[in-house]
Amino acid sequence: MTKMSRSLIGLCTLSTLSLLAACALNTPRLQQPSQIRSQTAATSQRAIPKPATIQMPSPNQNERPAGSTINTIVLHHTAMAGDARAVGNYFARPEAKTSSHYIVDRTGYLVQPVADNLRSWHAGRSEFNGVGDVNNFSIGIEICNLGDSVEAYSDAQYDGIIRLVAYLVSEYRIPLANITRHRDIAIPLGRKIDTSNNFSMARVNEGVRAVLNGTYRPPALNTPAEQPQLPAFREVIVQAGQTTLEDIADIHLDNPARWVELQAFNPQVSAKQLQVGQKIRVPNHIDFKIYEQHQH
Ligand SMILES: [Zn+2]
Repeated sequence: MTKMSRSLIGLCTLSTLSLLAACALNTPRLQQPSQIRSQTAATSQRAIPKPATIQMPSPNQNERPAGSTINTIVLHHTAMAGDARAVGNYFARPEAKTSSHYIVDRTGYLVQPVADNLRSWHAGRSEFNGVGDVNNFSIGIEICNLGDSVEAYSDAQYDGIIRLVAYLVSEYRIPLANITRHRDIAIPLGRKIDTSNNFSMARVNEGVRAVLNGTYRPPALNTPAEQPQLPAFREVIVQAGQTTLEDIADIHLDNPARWVELQAFNPQVSAKQLQVGQKIRVPNHIDFKIYEQHQH
């Protein structure tokens, strides 16, 4: 070994040591390689700003269990024609018995009914990666859409979802593999169909990755997105295993408590004696008057 190379090694060792020392200053505890890998895969160090939200507090929430950490994001469709404010109004009613942390409008704006640190009621009976009661450790995001796999999700809406999910991933160090859909975590399997078949998880994942690494290009929104005109109802056919209007409301309105709306819309139907093949009209708009009558 030459004198030159020895001094080079000395220099390298010195600079490596000072690098290590600098790292140690920023790293309060040693991490296992697997932890480092999962964090790198999940997020960059880039701080993603929280998108603007309209606060519409819902009473349908409670404390998360002690010691639980937020590590999962669950996407839903609202199964209704109303905009995000209308869904926020619905979640503000105790009889809805349901809520979410966020609602993404068709035009892209965001409503927040429940603060992140609280447990919102969006997942119901559920399991993710072998852990039950997904509400305990997840953030629930409702996406305004009929959920009929026909209504398209707008560019403005994907943009809103991507910015929100990227913020949550960065804020809570959520692995990208833990961005999931209600249909994937609901038990028994098949109880839920959201998000609908025409919703692209690939587009969300790709967009979130791009936001995290600073290469995101928002879609060109030349004209302001408007609320679409949507039909008054859609028709579904009773499948094997579905016997009550509550079953139909659970799968097609994403909320069993909304069976009263189905009954009002289908007065000829016997709520607890559905027949396979029977057609049920599912309202696209919530009629709040039904709940007021129901309470009286
Ligand atoms: Zn859902």
